[in-house]
Amino acid sequence: MSPSDQPSVRLRPEIVALPAYRQGKAANASAFKLSSNENPFDPLPGVVDAVNAVSAFNRYPDASALALRERLAARYGVASDEVHIGAGSVALLAQLITAAAGPGDEVLYSWRSFEAYPSLVTVSGATSVTVPNRADHGHDLPAMAAMITPRTRVVLVCSPNNPTGVVVTADEFAAFMDQVPTDLLVILDEAYAEFVTDPAAVDGTTLLGRYPNLVVLRTFSKAYGLAGLRVGYGIGPVGILDAARATAIPLSVTGQASAAALASLDAEAELLARVAVIAARRDGIQQALAGAGLHSPSSQANFVWLPLGEATAAATERFTDAGLVVRPFHPEGIRVSIGEEESVATLLRISAEIVQDLP
Ligand code: PMP
Repeated sequence: MSPSDQPSVRLRPEIVALPAYRQGKAANASAFKLSSNENPFDPLPGVVDAVNAVSAFNRYPDASALALRERLAARYGVASDEVHIGAGSVALLAQLITAAAGPGDEVLYSWRSFEAYPSLVTVSGATSVTVPNRADHGHDLPAMAAMITPRTRVVLVCSPNNPTGVVVTADEFAAFMDQVPTDLLVILDEAYAEFVTDPAAVDGTTLLGRYPNLVVLRTFSKAYGLAGLRVGYGIGPVGILDAARATAIPLSVTGQASAAALASLDAEAELLARVAVIAARRDGIQQALAGAGLHSPSSQANFVWLPLGEATAAATERFTDAGLVVRPFHPEGIRVSIGEEESVATLLRISAEIVQDLP
């Protein structure tokens, strides 16, 4: 920040110090953008038609996205008030954290995890308390349970974890929930759930109604390919979701987003077939990486984690030069989204070169 950029009004210093959300950018049109865990398949024509059919955009959208809530409620066997729609699941994270935590309160999560968590906690005024990931890059839930204090107001559990891809198992999660006080909000962030093929992984949608303090978050951004339209949902107890609704910026879920989500649910079989292609591509990439001597943790998401440590910056440059836009997390590693089939050979070739040059 140059002196002339100094704010001339009194702002919250912790917000002034907060960097804005970063986004990987393709250097040129021919580069593969593997930095945001997006779906590489083009939108389905039927979904595009459903979006285009929403023409009355001189009117505000339905504030609670009732049609989509009812559809999801029927699917999961819950009441429509037990579903809350947001402009992406990141909006729901913000609402839930703000609803439960403020100055003096703590929000607990494993680290490294989704990079929006620390910012959202800072914005809420609460304090982040982090527990390092296990050596296998998964959450250390017993260590997290041990960090709960009377000030803890929210626990964030991310499965599969962004950026490492490691899942929490159903058994680990059940043991954790048994240790968590029932008045402490637990958010199970399952943005990548549809890519999971490990039957031992937790599936929050099988736990609905079991815990009075659990909210499960899902999104249409990844498996359903609607990242640009911004629509995600939370499922949980009405009292918690009502508090989230109270903090929401009104009317931020557009009619187009709801229509696209509904059309995607109509086309679910086709979309999940694409998900299966991505999951198989992921498994193939991981196997090839292991064969080349690069041991990434077992990912169940639509990305892989390359734990390159201090070699992260140089490796990122090599990927970029080869036309792959990846997401570095200095100095821990690189997250690479599973993208177009045409990107795979380059990914494996450059990865093998990087491993060879590791000290
Ligand atoms: N949770 C996790 C773990 C994520 O990785 C992301 C997106 N990167 C989100 C939530 C938010 O996704 P969206 O707002 O697009 O639903």
